[in-house]
Amino acid sequence: MGVALPRKEFFEIPEGVIYLDGNSLGVLPRGAAERAGQVITQEWGNQLIRAWNDAGWMALPQIVGDSIAALLGAPKGSIATGDTLSIKVYQALAAALKMRPERKVILSDNGNFPSDLYMAQGLIGTLAQGYELRTPAPEDVLEAITDDVAAVMLTQVDYRTGRMHDMDSITRRAHAVGAVMIWDLAHSAGAVEVDLAACNAEFAVGCSYKYLNGGPGAPAFIYVRPDIVDGIEPALSGWLGHEAPFAMDLDYRPAMATERMRVGTPPILQLAVLQEALKVWDGVDMCELRAASVALSDLFIQEVEARCPQLRLASPRNASERGSQVSFAFEHGYAAMQTIIDRGVIGDFRAPNVMRFGFTPLYLDHDDVMAAAQIIQEVLTEELWRDPKYQVRAAVT
Ligand SMILES: *Cc1c(COP(=O)(O)O)cnc(C)c1O
Repeated sequence: MGVALPRKEFFEIPEGVIYLDGNSLGVLPRGAAERAGQVITQEWGNQLIRAWNDAGWMALPQIVGDSIAALLGAPKGSIATGDTLSIKVYQALAAALKMRPERKVILSDNGNFPSDLYMAQGLIGTLAQGYELRTPAPEDVLEAITDDVAAVMLTQVDYRTGRMHDMDSITRRAHAVGAVMIWDLAHSAGAVEVDLAACNAEFAVGCSYKYLNGGPGAPAFIYVRPDIVDGIEPALSGWLGHEAPFAMDLDYRPAMATERMRVGTPPILQLAVLQEALKVWDGVDMCELRAASVALSDLFIQEVEARCPQLRLASPRNASERGSQVSFAFEHGYAAMQTIIDRGVIGDFRAPNVMRFGFTPLYLDHDDVMAAAQIIQEVLTEELWRDPKYQVRAAVT
């Protein structure tokens, strides 16, 4: 048995807000602001450069990586942190392609997050060796894994609909044809049960500002399967992935660990905040967290469908095929979401017509779901979204 959920007392949730956007930016954990202040004033302010050693800054990327590994069924030392997810996608893909030099196909799907596909396109351009990126529909991926594929690069949970790929069967298929498997766990880490060791994929990447609550721009992570890490050739061979950064060698020699996937100076402020945020997970049983997520999501679907016939469920109805978010399609989804947000229920919108609601059992309960459904019903039944002030699009939706 894990600790009881939710753990609202661990978070600073503004009065009057029901936050259904933890899939995009997690809420502020209690203690994070104080920790950031302490790192700034005491460590940076007083200790200055000595803090790299004396305040343990240099060890922070690895300590945080180990905490994330524990949530993903990965062994200690198998996860490196830093940079942003887009960078980690590039690194994983570049390393995977080097492992299969005779093959020229990258397989993803057209439900992947655009940045993952953009990074693949950029890498293809840089390599200039005739690589091809294939993006079939998510439901056609399994059949598209053929023996000309060098790397399969997929995001487990679809950012628009929450539809979830089966990591085990896809990884098995990739390995059966000799392809390298890369999983993007951006919408999985801290949201669904993941067992990287059992899955056996070569690489996994993800970010820490969604369900892990690390704050805007928090560092990303990359997992490399321990048995292959010594043979991985990093494309971004920065000095902090060097075996001995302070030897100041003229030639690159990768660290003999996942640390070789680090690039430059670690973002200490963000890492310290993330370390604080990860304390919230102490004693949380991921199986119980998943059960709570499914219960909240199922309740939300039931309540919203009963109250709002205007909305069409855009997520899988079957919880086992869905991550920790629920999406509804609605022609006036942008305006409707702005209206709902104005009434304290925060979700978000993804073009062309998807209203997204994330469910984070660490800080949401049954009453929150019922109250949110009530507000959504009022906005749709009374067509409150027709007010012109809700039609203007902001830069970030
Ligand atoms: C959120 C997300 C990203 C964002 O990448 P950043 O480099 O952190 O901006 C990339 N890929 C996926 C699948 C995501 O969900």
